[in-house]
Amino acid sequence: MALIVQKYGGTSVGTVERIQAVAERVCKTAAAGNSVVVVVSAMGKTTDGLVKLAGEISSRPSRREMDMLLSTGEQISIALLSMALHERGQAALSLTGAQVGIVTEARHAHARILQIQPERVQRHLAEGQVVVVAGFQGISQTSDLEITTLGRGGSDTSAVALAAALQADFCEIYTDVPGILTTDPRLVPEAQLMAEITCDEMLELASLGAKVLHPRAVEIARNYGITLVVRSSWSDEPGTRVTSPVPQPRPLEGLEIAHPVDAIEFDTNQAKVAMLRVPDRPGVAAQLFGSIAQQDLNVDLVIQSIHEGNTNDIAFTVEKGLLNRAEAVAEAISPALRRQAADEAEVMVDRQIAKVSIAGAGMIGRPGVAAQMFSTLAAARVNIQMISTSEVKVSCTVKAAECDRAIAALCQAFEVSSSPVRLEQSTQAGPPVRGAALDCGQARLALRHVPDEPGMAAKIFQILADRGISVDMIIQSQRCRLHQGHKTRDIAFTVAQADAEVAKEVLQALSAELRTGEVIVDQAVAKVSVVGVGMIHQPGVAAKMFRALAEQRINIQMIATSEIKVSCVVAETEGVKALQAVHTAFGLAGTQSVSVPA
Ligand code: ADP
Ligand code: ASP
Ligand code: MG
Repeated sequence: MALIVQKYGGTSVGTVERIQAVAERVCKTAAAGNSVVVVVSAMGKTTDGLVKLAGEISSRPSRREMDMLLSTGEQISIALLSMALHERGQAALSLTGAQVGIVTEARHAHARILQIQPERVQRHLAEGQVVVVAGFQGISQTSDLEITTLGRGGSDTSAVALAAALQADFCEIYTDVPGILTTDPRLVPEAQLMAEITCDEMLELASLGAKVLHPRAVEIARNYGITLVVRSSWSDEPGTRVTSPVPQPRPLEGLEIAHPVDAIEFDTNQAKVAMLRVPDRPGVAAQLFGSIAQQDLNVDLVIQSIHEGNTNDIAFTVEKGLLNRAEAVAEAISPALRRQAADEAEVMVDRQIAKVSIAGAGMIGRPGVAAQMFSTLAAARVNIQMISTSEVKVSCTVKAAECDRAIAALCQAFEVSSSPVRLEQSTQAGPPVRGAALDCGQARLALRHVPDEPGMAAKIFQILADRGISVDMIIQSQRCRLHQGHKTRDIAFTVAQADAEVAKEVLQALSAELRTGEVIVDQAVAKVSVVGVGMIHQPGVAAKMFRALAEQRINIQMIATSEIKVSCVVAETEGVKALQAVHTAFGLAGTQSVSVPA
């Protein structure tokens, strides 16, 4: 006898027949002696329909009224499912987010869960009832008791948070595909089901565009050690298990907001190679990293900055012991690149660097966390050389001599008392690439002529964080140029398309104060990514991805990597082709295609 939370998505409760099928499954689970809490989404595309309706009345509806409107979708499905359970003789009752005690921030449209008061649910479970809960909604902590929603796709988060609060044995997410696949089967029909994936990998995939799970749901599962299973509503197949490490104990108070960072990591065994002014055309990254992989050299961070004129800068880090060989490879191919580039290609190396990172699942969608890291480093007078971001980590390379100072400041700022983790010692087993994802909702911004001094990244990203704008990839160019007598660098980053214009406006308005140059926006970009914990120890993953894109003549505009992912920004029109090429290149495609409901 177990306590199980089951969540059913929109398609799974899209029609009366489907609601009946869900009721059958719930009854079966309860009849086997389990206590069952069911979380449901709105029927089919109800939420989209409500958004459209609002759009017909107002071009800028108030967020409060939007929450009031959108939260009704889930209320229809909880009532209907409870009725279907009653018809089968199963005691059940439906509850809204407020009735369950899902208490959130008073922030409409994107509220985070602060706590769940589980007493009422526990009481009904003890009476032998199935409790059917409206996903995606909560109630604010303020005296006004405002209805809030958690953000689109947020029912997954409601379910996992309930599982944490109730200390459920596991949480099952029922959806319209057989589980988590190597990529979106709607874009790549050859996508294959995986039996298992780690929370870290799933966090990256979910935030990089795989909407099968809401990233915040994975974050809670990881933080509280919830066993999460994604399964099909149409079959009894086991689906995909999302595995989490044993979590550090944490209170349920401040569920989604306490301790966004749970570790500070560092690596002093790194050196940097930068190639400046390489030609901006398909195949260059593939050529460079292909040669490096042939030498069996494992690269860690790779970043490619935006192009200026017709050249790019590419920088990467390798273990110190491999630097000479990596430099030799870069030098060997640079004459060829030089012939093709308008400018002189140049190789720069730096042995005296360290990488410092903040890690933790709680930074998702919280732009202030990266900004706090940058301002902490600025306050400690540490200049940031390279920045690489992933959903669960922000890494900066700094001067080796400044590493200790950086770590001490970060430990204090993020209240991490345990000793920092030396990265070379960490081992993770798994395939080099577990899955691929495409995100077409991003825009690219480039900010020119940013003064090269401590504190600039902090200022820029704090300004965006204050406007609630989450920055995804951040790339700081390697090239320092003199501009009006100052050393400057360019910074490029991606944000959600909906935020791009606001980001541009605020940065432009402050350009005199910040002493920065022009802001350039490109809305028509797509980000294609591969994720896998095993790539940490496997040379050649980045090279293989770049090769796959080069073979399709797809130009790479930006590159960013973390330990477990490689992401490339390409033109939006080439996004799906890029995803398919990369998926095939890593041998993820299978012969059985997965059927997906319309
Ligand atoms: P639900 O309504 O059940 O929450 P969603 O539409 O939110 O369902 O998520 C399921 C969809 O996610 C699938 O139909 C599929 O198109 C998409 N998807 C994207 N990436 C993946 C992936 N890696 N594995 C499985 N499904 C994926
Ligand atoms: N109904 C909400 C949405 O469509 C929440 C969810 O389905 O998870 O976004
Ligand atoms: Mg969903």
